[in-house]
Amino acid sequence: MSPQPSNATLPSWLTWWQRPFPDANTLLLPGRQPALVDTGFVGHADETAAWARAHAGPIDLVVNTHWHSDHVGGNALLQAQGATIAAGTPEADAITRRDPGCCGAEYLDQPVAPYTVNVPLDDGQVLQLGDTDWQAVRTPGHTPGHLALWQPEERILVVGDALSDYDVGWVNLALDGPDAATTALTSLKRMADLDPRLILPSHGPIPTDPAAAFSAALRRAQRLIDDPAGTIWYGARRIFAFALMIRDGIPADEVEPYLHARVWLTDAAHLLAVTPEVLATELVTTMLRSGAIVLRDGRIRAAADHTPVAPETMRVPYPRAWPANEAR
Ligand SMILES: [Zn+2]
Repeated sequence: MSPQPSNATLPSWLTWWQRPFPDANTLLLPGRQPALVDTGFVGHADETAAWARAHAGPIDLVVNTHWHSDHVGGNALLQAQGATIAAGTPEADAITRRDPGCCGAEYLDQPVAPYTVNVPLDDGQVLQLGDTDWQAVRTPGHTPGHLALWQPEERILVVGDALSDYDVGWVNLALDGPDAATTALTSLKRMADLDPRLILPSHGPIPTDPAAAFSAALRRAQRLIDDPAGTIWYGARRIFAFALMIRDGIPADEVEPYLHARVWLTDAAHLLAVTPEVLATELVTTMLRSGAIVLRDGRIRAAADHTPVAPETMRVPYPRAWPANEAR
């Protein structure tokens, strides 16, 4: 294994928590305005809030790189404890409108506890996180409202799900249109042009060589453009694996009915010109064969390292049933 930058090589004013799925990595900036970038999965909200408080005291500001469930799950709890929530447009506006598509929660079948966005962020907007100023950098692709956060003096870039040590974020050609992969590539080029010294991805370790990480991600993003079918498959594998992780697997005989009922799978099947039944069977077969999922104790489970989720923590309404947006 190549050596990873440890917390010792990170600036002392920044606290980094590398977390397994279903939680995104969490960045904490203690100081005058204690701030948290991304808040993990709803099932671990207590743990996220307690960790932040232990290291920085009460959190003033939460910034979300984007609205997926593994990034916004602690928002509701932290907001109830007094934090202001900032997120990129157009996702911030959709949250304010209570758009049923919020967070892709229903579409992806990933629970998110209801929250409101107090500060919609536009490109270039400057935020004080802890004791330092950061710029919001619009980086759509993985989602339309995806943001990176840039600290120009220290040349640190929080990249969210746009790239990781091992891959680029999946894109949703059904929901976000056929140009979503091209949009993601354009965003990656913009981030690479900032020439960061340190990049902080939402999943996996901190890349040791940011330039090499961008080169690999740019090649991978080009492949997403060149191979739309492969891109649809990639998204389907990621969404299905996440569904298995948050449910401690799904009983083997319930997996295909579960998949047939998912909008993301029906959409993917449509784009691939196959039936949902054929896609569901293929997805399970190929992922079992590759080792991405395994059959154990009668349940199909995700093979990747992940933290268990208590089922009762997932009993939150879909955004279409969220309480009305209240002015704070
Ligand atoms: Zn995401």
